[in-house]
Amino acid sequence: MNAADSKKIRLVMSLRKAGIRDTTVLSAIERVPRDHFIPEAMQDQAYEDIAVPIGLGQTISQPFVVAKMTEALELNDRHKVLEIGTGTGYQACVLSKICRRVYTIERHKPLHDIAENNFKELGLRNITTLCGDGMKGWPKIHGIEQAPFDRIIVTAAAREKPPEKLIEQLKVGGIMVAPVGESGKQMLKRYKKESADTYAISDIIPVRFVPLLPDIAKDGARDEIQEEVMA
Ligand code: SAH
Repeated sequence: MNAADSKKIRLVMSLRKAGIRDTTVLSAIERVPRDHFIPEAMQDQAYEDIAVPIGLGQTISQPFVVAKMTEALELNDRHKVLEIGTGTGYQACVLSKICRRVYTIERHKPLHDIAENNFKELGLRNITTLCGDGMKGWPKIHGIEQAPFDRIIVTAAAREKPPEKLIEQLKVGGIMVAPVGESGKQMLKRYKKESADTYAISDIIPVRFVPLLPDIAKDGARDEIQEEVMA
């Protein structure tokens, strides 16, 4: 066993201790090399249970939050999942180990490119990436509609509620997990779509995410810097 493997096992043990019970989620995390998704200079923190800066004012999510969100999605291998906020692709990679296909959108082109390259290097063929504004949902591409999705995960925080378009693109019976609230007062929420126009909402845990922002980011523009850690 190499050093990264033993660090990974220690991380999974700490997630279990912190209350993550779903063995499918724990095993997916154990199979994802988080060091691939982290900049060279921060490699020593790859298997710590913390969020780490990935450039452009963004962060790779904290493993505990990734585990908690993945668990809340109640995924299986038939599910088609939409992720908003690819970053460098860590969460998408964890999802891809459990579900059938992941569609993921990132508004920063440089991050989108890094994620795409990571997926290629790791040979992950069930992830489709897009550089665009995830607040508008997954667009029809070459006349092909991918919505509705079985599950939706939003990894950047909306101020009041997730964009209407995302609820619209969720299947009836589907689950969406999304952080909501202003900086310092965010709550991770679970939305279960019960009919075409009703859904049940429940709170999961307090979190701190970077904000969900509209439009594709201008070349090299940084967003407001925030750390994504448990509140
Ligand atoms: N899922 C990532 C977390 C990245 S941080 C991981 O596994 O580490 C959240 C990301 O959401 C940032 O990269 C940010 O640029 C992106 N984001 C914010 N608003 C967005 C939007 N409207 N559409 C797509 N991506 C968005």
